[in-house]
Amino acid sequence: MKAAPFDYVRARDAAHAVELLTAAEGFVKIIAGGQSLGPMLNLRLVEPDRLVDVRTCPDLRGCRDEGETIVYGAAVTHSEIEDGAVPDPCHGWLAAAARRIAYRAVRNRGTLGGSIAHADPAADWLVVLLLLGAEVVVLGPGGMRTATLAEFVTGPFSTALDTGEVLAAIRIARRSDRVRYGYRKMAMKVGEFATAFCVALDDPERGESRAVLGAIERPPITVDDLPNVSDTAGAEAFVSACVPGLDAPAVRLHAVTLRRAVRDLECPGLQV
Ligand SMILES: Cc1cc2nc3c(=O)[nH]c(=O)nc-3n(C[C@H](O)[C@H](O)[C@H](O)COP(=O)(O)OP(=O)(O)OC[C@H]3O[C@@H](n4cnc5c(N)ncnc54)[C@H](O)[C@@H]3O)c2cc1C
Repeated sequence: MKAAPFDYVRARDAAHAVELLTAAEGFVKIIAGGQSLGPMLNLRLVEPDRLVDVRTCPDLRGCRDEGETIVYGAAVTHSEIEDGAVPDPCHGWLAAAARRIAYRAVRNRGTLGGSIAHADPAADWLVVLLLLGAEVVVLGPGGMRTATLAEFVTGPFSTALDTGEVLAAIRIARRSDRVRYGYRKMAMKVGEFATAFCVALDDPERGESRAVLGAIERPPITVDDLPNVSDTAGAEAFVSACVPGLDAPAVRLHAVTLRRAVRDLECPGLQV
């Protein structure tokens, strides 16, 4: 199938995108890398009257090092993070996580902001950035606002973006090199979306230790205070309690990813 006809405009910057979103009549949609929206257009799951392209907006393409935090423009691509073209607040762990998204052609075009705005519950960035306690910066007709990623993602494929708003940036706090990470992504094939996903973190300086479970039919679940998952039965009971209604094979799969991600924290070096 081919996409239904639509009008196409390239925004000059984020403010221009907001203007274009609010000025036009009909159904207007932002496009960034097109790696999720493209297939949806072709399948006619969405039929916008107009696309506003933000991929080349200079203010969405940049990255600002604020010392304690790094602020990524929403149109920074997965491969720019993978390649170290922008700073990594996690001493290489963010780059390693980027490398596990799909395959290079997708990573060359797919953007951080597009992935977050799409809010696929199995998406890598959603799970990874929730673990890191990221914040989002949103620009709309009323100005700029900030929210935690946890507040921003309201459900599977659903966010708190209002009409006329553009996701402008993602802010991630710098972590020390003493932080340990756990990372377990189960997929049917390399480059596919996860069927079970768990990341974990132990940050002695900030006193944080938590895990995030993803690839479930709801927004990823953040577990503060890591559970004791030394045995399979305990891990399965924990997953069942977190996600009621999962069938037994799914519980087993998520429990295995949780156990392995938590156990990764005991190993030195980057876990991805
Ligand atoms: C074959 C294939 C395999 C993939 N595998 C994975 C995978 O393993 N893991 C993974 O995480 N992802 C995967 N993806 C998805 C990929 O990471 C996409 O890049 C990402 O989900 C969307 O980013 P995008 O820039 O392409 O956004 P687009 O497709 O352009 O847009 C997606 C949605 O976000 C909105 N949007 C985009 N930018 C903004 C913005 N700045 N402000 C407000 N709204 C915005 C659009 O309106 C649209 O609704 C895969 C994609 C493909 C095609």
